[in-house]
Amino acid sequence: MSNTKESQLSEIATSTYQCKYCLQEIEQKAKVCHYCSRYQNRLIQSLGTIVHLISIGAFVISIIMMWIAFSHLKEARQERIAAEDAVQKAETVAASLIRVTYIQAKTKNEFGNSSRLKKAQAIIEEELNKVLKLGFPNEEGRKAFIQELTKELPPRGD
Ligand SMILES: [Zn+2]
Repeated sequence: MSNTKESQLSEIATSTYQCKYCLQEIEQKAKVCHYCSRYQNRLIQSLGTIVHLISIGAFVISIIMMWIAFSHLKEARQERIAAEDAVQKAETVAASLIRVTYIQAKTKNEFGNSSRLKKAQAIIEEELNKVLKLGFPNEEGRKAFIQELTKELPPRGD
């Protein structure tokens, strides 16, 4: 009876051994340590480590690629916004000049102080101010430009 117990104990003692990595007692036949989940075969374990490192590398590379793609997208978006802004300004200028030309042509041979002429004058001024603000966003620059223009006209009543 005591003999069988001893032999059982010695069997248990020989059938376990230490994990190569975490040094816990594990079954001798175990291919994987159930404490640290490492393969006891060093070749398989190092292959696993290599695969793991490769997947970390791939992850880092994909993040870098995403970052590059995102910054290009941002750049393209800023360029597109600037281009759209320029197109919009050009459209405003074109529309204003067309309106001014049309109204001037419509009232070309009209004289006097009629409400029709006053309205035409008001529209022309409004349109020119719109265009001037695009050409001279700075108010000081705008005033200086208008002053220069006014100087070119002979004084009233001449
Ligand atoms: Zn282990």
